[in-house]
Amino acid sequence: MQVIDSTENDANKIGLNKTTLEDVALEIPNTFGIHVNAQHVLPVHTESELVTLWQQATAKNQPVLMLGSGSNVLILENFAGTVLLNRIRGIQITESADAWHLHIGAGEVWNDLVNFCLDRHIPGLENLALIPGRVGSAPVQNIGAYGVELEQFCKYVDVIQLKTGEKFRLNKTQCKFGFRESIFKHELREHHAIVAVGLCLKKAWQPILNYGDLKHLDPQQVTPRQIYNAVCTIRRSKLPDPAVLGNAGSFFKNPIINSTEADNILQSYLNAPHHPQSDGRIKVAAGWLIEQCGLKGFKLGNAAVCDHHALVLINNGNASGREIAALANHIRQQVANRFAIWLEPEVRFVGKCGEVDAFTAIS
Ligand code: NAP
Repeated sequence: MQVIDSTENDANKIGLNKTTLEDVALEIPNTFGIHVNAQHVLPVHTESELVTLWQQATAKNQPVLMLGSGSNVLILENFAGTVLLNRIRGIQITESADAWHLHIGAGEVWNDLVNFCLDRHIPGLENLALIPGRVGSAPVQNIGAYGVELEQFCKYVDVIQLKTGEKFRLNKTQCKFGFRESIFKHELREHHAIVAVGLCLKKAWQPILNYGDLKHLDPQQVTPRQIYNAVCTIRRSKLPDPAVLGNAGSFFKNPIINSTEADNILQSYLNAPHHPQSDGRIKVAAGWLIEQCGLKGFKLGNAAVCDHHALVLINNGNASGREIAALANHIRQQVANRFAIWLEPEVRFVGKCGEVDAFTAIS
């Protein structure tokens, strides 16, 4: 077994390596670049630290928010409690005849993991290049891009029940993965934290090039690193860098509609992008629906629809969470008026005491 200690103690760097709560207001990291504070924002490096801090905060009746990098959240207002940033690191690899088995700390940076694998000639994750966030967030969202989803590799997820400190392992089926969905958004949304993820990457590698932007690559010749580079180039050309322009990637999920609804759209829009699913329903591109409503580049206060990619909402500078939510609501209404489809946010909404229902928050 190869054990890589990737511990980069960011807490020590910024002097926050504590296991007690301090009454200081601190800004919550989020890729939308929205300026919001919590009473405490603490990185956690071990499972016991995580349980201790969570229990200390809840004993004081404080709400607790668990975050990785804040890459898929819209924080609507200051948080009235403690934010714990998962920084549990470490990657362990074991090898069997036909696969590599990885056990990864939830606080590892996702794209660093992808590079780590490719550097060791372990292919599989290349289509998931450059997705922001930490490994622990990947199963929550069942991250996916260019025809690949985490569930294809996920063997297990290790979870801690924070009230009791009990750790347990969910296999892939128990994770109830779906399109940007999992049990971690539902039954295990509260009082639980993901501490590690187990992946199985098969040695019999096949390139996955069926998405339009990758079709030009030669399946006989292409290497995993070349796919990684191609995905990075595409993403950089289409998606704004959150470090420059605050955003959380795709704001809405691609709706999956029945064939009658799809036919209605296709009668009026012959070129509407649509992708039949195995269950007979049809996936339509949310970005295309928004674009058809003339909303690409649309601004509402300091929030805007990205003019490169209509599925991405951006913070044009000093936008509040409420402004972005108001823009999201406007988009939903426009798309519903035109196509009779209610878009569902992919981004999760956080209010002052924790996650809130996005529909309620934006309607
Ligand atoms: P795109 O290529 O412009 O295509 C638009 C949508 O059509 C995609 O969202 C994709 O759905 C679907 N699609 C395209 N080709 C398909 C195929 N061959 N089979 C089935 N569905 C197909 O998409 P894009 O916006 O540039 O994104 C490219 C990939 O990166 C997509 O997989 C997208 O989900 C992913 N991505 C995710 C985020 C995020 O924040 N979650 C942000 C950017 C990109 P799917 O989304 O179901 O794949």
